[in-house]
Amino acid sequence: MAKILLIALAFAAVFWLLRKHRRRADHDAQRPPDPQAEDMVDCAHCGVHLPRGEGILSAARYFCSVEHEREFRAKH
Ligand SMILES: [Zn+2]
Repeated sequence: MAKILLIALAFAAVFWLLRKHRRRADHDAQRPPDPQAEDMVDCAHCGVHLPRGEGILSAARYFCSVEHEREFRAKH
């Protein structure tokens, strides 16, 4: 009978530790900025909207891809 009590206690301890760990993980997840809140920019060549972090910055203009950056520079 004592064995069952020990096992139950062990399960309770594991459950408590998991809950504590998960709460800390949730707290950390709230820290990084929401990617949806990132500024949007337009590709200077085709006008597609994309997050600033994904755009290619060249001559103070943003492009959706290296190809469009190259094509834009060839035309201007
Ligand atoms: Zn483009």
